[in-house]
Amino acid sequence: MGWFRLGAMAEPLRFSVAEMVLVVLLCLASAVVFLLRVWPIAKTILGAKKDVGFSISPIGNRVWTFVWEVLCQGKVIKQRPLPGLAHAFVFWGFLAFALVSLNHLATGLRLGFLQDTGFVGTFYFGFAGVWAGLVAVSIAGLFWRRFVVRPRWLGEKVSVESGVIAGLIFVLMVTYLGGFVVGVGWAVDVLWWTHTLALLVFLPLIPRTKHLHLVLSPLTVFLKRGEFSQIPKLEGDEDFGLVAGKDLTQLIALQAYSCVECGRCTEHCPASTTGKVLNPKEIVLGVRGYLNEFGVGSEVPLLEEMRDSEIRDSSVGALTMEAAFECTTCGACEYQCPVGVEHLPILVGLRRGAVNTGAWEDGYGTKLFLALEKQGNALGMSAVERDKFVAKQEFPIFDGSQEYCLWLGCMGGYDPKGREIIADFARVMRYLGTSFGVMKKEKCTGDPARRLGNDLVFGSLAEAGLKAFETAKVKKIVAICPHCVRTIATDWREYGVAPEIEHHSEFMARFADKLPKQKGESIVYHDPCYLGRYQDVYEEPRAVVAAAGELVEAERNHERSFCCGAGGGLVFLGEETGERVSHVRAQELVATGAKTIGTACPFCNSMFRDALGAVGGEQPPQLLDIAQLTARGLPVVKAEAELLT
Ligand code: SF4
Ligand code: SF4
Repeated sequence: MGWFRLGAMAEPLRFSVAEMVLVVLLCLASAVVFLLRVWPIAKTILGAKKDVGFSISPIGNRVWTFVWEVLCQGKVIKQRPLPGLAHAFVFWGFLAFALVSLNHLATGLRLGFLQDTGFVGTFYFGFAGVWAGLVAVSIAGLFWRRFVVRPRWLGEKVSVESGVIAGLIFVLMVTYLGGFVVGVGWAVDVLWWTHTLALLVFLPLIPRTKHLHLVLSPLTVFLKRGEFSQIPKLEGDEDFGLVAGKDLTQLIALQAYSCVECGRCTEHCPASTTGKVLNPKEIVLGVRGYLNEFGVGSEVPLLEEMRDSEIRDSSVGALTMEAAFECTTCGACEYQCPVGVEHLPILVGLRRGAVNTGAWEDGYGTKLFLALEKQGNALGMSAVERDKFVAKQEFPIFDGSQEYCLWLGCMGGYDPKGREIIADFARVMRYLGTSFGVMKKEKCTGDPARRLGNDLVFGSLAEAGLKAFETAKVKKIVAICPHCVRTIATDWREYGVAPEIEHHSEFMARFADKLPKQKGESIVYHDPCYLGRYQDVYEEPRAVVAAAGELVEAERNHERSFCCGAGGGLVFLGEETGERVSHVRAQELVATGAKTIGTACPFCNSMFRDALGAVGGEQPPQLLDIAQLTARGLPVVKAEAELLT
């Protein structure tokens, strides 16, 4: 065997012809097995249905997301700093090693292009050596975490392949580093061949393990839909959502194969962590399992309950109706995922498939859809009740002369507490001298129908809403409900162009210096999912709270805020399994010791109102919307005092 050295100590290599032939054969075998294993996956992804409305532009945003999430590993490090950094070191080490690995195999053919005699080679071998040390330590740490610490959300199953891959990466690094200390002779031969074999065994293992994300995730991150929790448009009357394999799109298939099984989504899921069946990681792996078992184009239903009994015991057990309808659409899963998996298009897609085909049967759901269709509001009340409230509050009707249309929403128009919030917000608007009027008639934005997958009801509400705004010549809307803001601003786009809309926190924050400054009382602010994660509005409500008292943070805040349990239409369905999501969050808010809980969503407010009765203790904190926090600092004029009674 020829003599050679690794790394910075590398010398010109001399391999016999037999050795070179062996290197070529091993490389070919490794590449062929890799391609044979990756091809069926590529075929599945490419063979899936095209994503309606997918556009590569704006390319700038995609490039930025790619740089931040893939190259900088920003998201991974931000969400889980220590394991995230360890993962980032492994990733960056891989990049640094690409050249070294290529050179390593080339030396086996006497074609090595990096020599330690020149500055470039010496520098690069040393540079890669530093990375090799970091990667070895990081991979050992990650191995320890996965196999010894074993966080719950990684799942019960211990993945042998993950252990083997981690071992191979460790061997690759150690054999490289060994080249710096081993001189010439047989030890160098052993190091070279061990390194080579580890590299060539590693490659074909990738497609069969979660390490497939090494190949796919850069693509997945680059190609993701680009808007948080984007519900794709249906493709005509024959498209009912995700009913069977034939409905799975290329993006969904790509994402399913990219999942690295880290469990971040499950760790942050309010349904999973309160003992429900739903486990977002298993949903994604369920889609992957389905694709492996039935393939794209299959007519076999995705949800277990919709399948024939003889194929119910397949490997796709996580895809159940119960799981799909336990999702609050809080978006924590999608927000956390480091490889660009978008859970909500899948979960809402499955709901669509069940609702639009009539397979979902739920008493509460039916009642809700009927209320939306007949009364035009989710609470099922007569529109006359809203008229009476508007008259009592002496709200002007929007006639085009006012600056804002104040959108009441179902909660503000019909729910007693929601009405208090609207009344107080109207006081704030009056105090600030902003002119507003309310719609003469309002229908629900369709948010619960949209999230529950009823496209027919949602579509008719969206169209009616758009027409009403157009007729009334509304230019600017302000609303107290983040669900209304999101639905009008984003979901209605499928049907037309809605007027500009903002949340009342954004409106009030603009006038922060004019809001009454109140002293003393501690207020813990709860970030609503549909305001924070969905619309990236975190600081505006805090500015309003800070004017009304001393702002206190809950343990989970900003983008890590924990759901109240109401979203995704669940406030109207009831929660039967496990602990109540609202109780868990209310306990967390109470534990801060704050005198008041500040909310910025009438649904959160309603959920906590009930929860505090159960978990608030003897003296539960006061529960107020940010508009109420501001309004209580306003001088009460006589006419207003009468309205408030
Ligand atoms: S959206 Fe929220 S409730 Fe639904 S699966 Fe994701 S984390 Fe769980
Ligand atoms: S879907 Fe994303 S967050 Fe969830 S386990 Fe897979 S990679 Fe991790």
